[in-house]
Amino acid sequence: MARYVFITGGVVSSLGKGLASAALGALLQARGFSVRLRKLDPYLNVDPGTMSPFEHGEVFVTDDGAETDLDLGHYERFTGVSARKTDSVSSGRIYSTVLEKERRGDYLGKTIQVIPHVTNEIKEFLRIGDDEVDFMLCEIGGTVGDIEGLPFFEAIRQFIHERPRGQSILMHLTLLPYLAASGELKTKPTQHSVKELQSIGLAPDVLVCRSEHPIPDKEREKIALFCNVRKDAVIAAYDLKSIYEAPLAYHREGLDQAVLDAFGISPAPRPNLGRWEDVMDRLNNAEGQVRVAIVGKYTQLEDAYKSIAEALTHGGMANRVRVKVEWVDAELFEREDPAPHLEGFHAILVPGGFGERGTEGKIKAAEFARTRGIPYLGICLGMQMAVIEAARNVAGLTTAGSEEFDHEAGKKRFEPVVYHLKEWIQGNHKVERKAGDDKGGTMRLGAYSATLTAGSKVAGVYGTTHIEERHRHRYEVDIKYREKLETCGLAFSGMSPDGRLPEIVEWKDHPWFIGVQFHPELKSKPFAPHPLFADFVRAAVETSRLV
Ligand code: GLN
Repeated sequence: MARYVFITGGVVSSLGKGLASAALGALLQARGFSVRLRKLDPYLNVDPGTMSPFEHGEVFVTDDGAETDLDLGHYERFTGVSARKTDSVSSGRIYSTVLEKERRGDYLGKTIQVIPHVTNEIKEFLRIGDDEVDFMLCEIGGTVGDIEGLPFFEAIRQFIHERPRGQSILMHLTLLPYLAASGELKTKPTQHSVKELQSIGLAPDVLVCRSEHPIPDKEREKIALFCNVRKDAVIAAYDLKSIYEAPLAYHREGLDQAVLDAFGISPAPRPNLGRWEDVMDRLNNAEGQVRVAIVGKYTQLEDAYKSIAEALTHGGMANRVRVKVEWVDAELFEREDPAPHLEGFHAILVPGGFGERGTEGKIKAAEFARTRGIPYLGICLGMQMAVIEAARNVAGLTTAGSEEFDHEAGKKRFEPVVYHLKEWIQGNHKVERKAGDDKGGTMRLGAYSATLTAGSKVAGVYGTTHIEERHRHRYEVDIKYREKLETCGLAFSGMSPDGRLPEIVEWKDHPWFIGVQFHPELKSKPFAPHPLFADFVRAAVETSRLV
């Protein structure tokens, strides 16, 4: 039976609950325990798949094809444990299951209520995989007091109560605002948010207090007294230069010790923090810097490309250089020549995206990288744009484009080099998609394997010819054009095992130009940088030496 840590937040949102949860996971691992992290989101969307990246940040895709919250990305990056479909749930998903059951008649005519039907469904979710790990860390989205969150808090209250004593604890994150005028850290909002928790039957065992200033002993005592937690379970969380400092910083502040104490685990196994010390050493002792341009659409919100930014940082760590990422709005190149904007970058990355806006600009960026010999990594839409660029400018298919952008029936603007795939093979079964299917969950999602051409650049980068990577897209490059493009020098160096779906393309006579239909960034970790990112940054370093 796993021990459960529930992680909640109060006072304000965006306190870094996800990061605190992920860091705690890493610290428990460092002490030899196995962990799994989960996210419970109170919003009513069934999953974040259809939410705008502007609003919600990136959609993180799991191996088993779930479209989840970006916090699951943090969890994976810090623990290396691959997230599953069952590690993320929203109110929308819970309610939709309850309503489905109601329609099927599963409740035998009973009146359906939040307690017990919705809360039971949440508890059932919490119990999944309970016998697989030592610790289950469950983060609740939002802040205590949010109306949508209530069923989750109530379910947790019941869950803790129904389990043997000492099997579950609650860790609560709050903010200690600093009043410059009086030079004080204020504890009242923390007290109120703990009261709010207590009013719904929950009491924190560990309090994590975000603060921009050192928390004096006196304030710690006050918080402990008024919030009914032990003084050494009041943990300070100061601002960090890098998120990867979090495990060591939280360890210094005593978070893992406080959690183990709360469970009564004594003596606590000694931690082995070597992995994180190495990560910090690589971050702190980088030599030199490379500049990478990300040419995309959602450039206002960095969270929209969270995993890509992190994977680039990991690539930098692999090469002991700092990667300076700059966001360039693709639409700019629809009006202006890309050269003055892209000159000076040591590498160009075109990330994934949906819809036509900005795509002509991305094609220009691909052309610039190809013709100037600048390292280029195209991810998903970024690969599709590179193929269209090759088709138009090298293979002479001047009207090449993607079916994604041909909306008007009967009026084809483009020759569909990238087309809408309607059926494909996943494992040993066929998946089919019909026109007019719901927008949510109709993509090729999750892990698929690919076979790489021996001797190709990517096979060298990966050091193998068989890989498995995560996907999230509706459109595919049409193999009809393979021969034509290969004759021009664009090798289709990675294919689905049945040979029907292009997974990777690369320019043969270019220092480093690779497009991938999948999302390698999702699998990169600071302690295990993804080979594509590590090699992309290596190529950027080489470019930087040329200038
Ligand atoms: N819009 C493209 C597709 O659906 C690419 C998706 C992506 O970049 N994730 O195929």
